[in-house]
Amino acid sequence: MTRKLAILGATGSVGTSTLDLVERNADRFEVVAVTAATNAAALADIARRTGAKLAVVADEARLPELRAALAGTDCRAAAGQESLVEAAASEAELVIAAIVGCAGLGPVMAAVEAGRTVALANKEALVTAGALMTEAAARTGATLLPVDSEHNAIFQCIACSRNEDVSKIILTASGGPFRTATVEVIDAATPAQAVAHPNWSMGAKISVDSATLMNKGLELIEAHYLFGLAPDRIDIVIHPQSVIHSLVEFVDGSVLAQLGSPDMRIPIAYAMAWPERMPTPAQRLDLLAIARLDFEAPDLARFPALKLARDALEAGGSAPIVLNAANEVAVARFLAGDISFPDIAGIVAKALDENDLVAPKSIPDVLEIDRLTRRRVEDAMSVACQ
Ligand code: NAD
Ligand code: MG
Repeated sequence: MTRKLAILGATGSVGTSTLDLVERNADRFEVVAVTAATNAAALADIARRTGAKLAVVADEARLPELRAALAGTDCRAAAGQESLVEAAASEAELVIAAIVGCAGLGPVMAAVEAGRTVALANKEALVTAGALMTEAAARTGATLLPVDSEHNAIFQCIACSRNEDVSKIILTASGGPFRTATVEVIDAATPAQAVAHPNWSMGAKISVDSATLMNKGLELIEAHYLFGLAPDRIDIVIHPQSVIHSLVEFVDGSVLAQLGSPDMRIPIAYAMAWPERMPTPAQRLDLLAIARLDFEAPDLARFPALKLARDALEAGGSAPIVLNAANEVAVARFLAGDISFPDIAGIVAKALDENDLVAPKSIPDVLEIDRLTRRRVEDAMSVACQ
C-alpha cells in the first residue's frame, strides 16, 4: 500500500529532505501535489520527478512559466492561494506542511478541516492559530504530527504515556551561531553570520530565528499547543551539541530523551512512516566520538526574543500573532540589510507593547491581525528610515 502525499513548500529545506526520503522509499509513497512560492522551474522539476498530478506556485505571475515547464506531462499547473488550499486538501492522506511563515496557515487549516494527517514543520501556522487549529483537529479527526525536531522528540518520548503522567517537557536549543558571542559582536552581526548555523542546515528565516533564539520562543508556543502543557511546565535548556533533541520528565522523576544526529530526515521520516518507522541515511550517533553533552541556561539579556515569546504566550489573545508577524517582517528586513540584528527583537518588543488587538475568534481574524501588524511594523520602519 502506498501512502499519498502532498508536499507544501516542496522547494524548501524541509521539502527537499522530504523528497529525498520519498525517492529512497518509492514503494511506500505516491506524491500527488507539490507547491512552491515562486520558483516555477524547480517546482516543475519536482513534479516531473515525482509524477505529481498537481503543481501550485503561490505567485500567480509565475503560472505561464510553470505551465510551459510542465508541457507534455499529465500534471496540472495552478497558482494562487486558492490553489494552495486545493493542494492541501487534495486526495493526499498525508500533508507535509513545510511552507515558511504565516503564509502557510490557510493551506494547513484546509488540510486540518479536511481531516487529513498533517506532518507539521510550519510552526508559524500553529503559533498564530494554535487554539483554533487544535480545536479544528479535534473536531475533524485530523492528526497533527510534529516535524520540528524538538516536538518530534517529545512526541516520540510520550508515545505510550498518559498526559497526566507528564510533569514537564524540556526543549533543547543549540544556542545558534552567537551562543558565545559578546554583545558587541551580536550588535554588529551580519546576515551571512546569522544564517551560518553551527549544527543544522535550514532555510534563511528559521536560521535567523535560531540566531536570535526567537526560534526557541516560537517552539515554546508550538509545544504549548501541541502537548497542552501550561507555559511554566515547558523549560528551555541550551545544549550546544544538538544530540538530545528534547526531553520529557514524568511524575515519577523519570526523564526520557530522544537522541540522534542533527538531520531533519529523522523527524520527517518518523512523521511520514508513523505509526511505523522507516530507514533513513542519517549518520548514526557515535557516543564515544561525541564523548560529552553540555547544558547551560539561556541568556535572556543577550537573546531577549526568547523572553518576548514567553511573555506573548502568557499574554495570549492576539499577542502570539503580533509576535510572529513583527518577527517575520523584521527578519526579512534584516536579511535585506535594512536593519541591524538587535533591531529584530526591538521591533517585536515595540509591536507587542503597542498591541491592543482583540483575541481572534476565527482564521480570518488571525489573518487580519497578521496583516494589520505587518502594515504597522512596515509603516514604523519606513518612518524610522526617512
Ligand atoms: P525554506 O525557506 O527553505 O522553504 C520554504 C518553502 O515555503 C519553499 O518551498 C517556499 O517556496 C515556500 N514558501 C515560502 N513563502 C511562501 C508563500 N508566501 N506562499 C507559499 N509558499 C511559500 O524553509 P524551511 O527551512 O524548509 O522551513 C519550512 C518550515 O519548517 C518553517 O516554518 C520552519 O520554521 C520549519 N522548520 C524547518 C526546519 C529546517 O531544518 N529547515 C526545522 C524545523 C522546522
Ligand atoms: Mg526546531
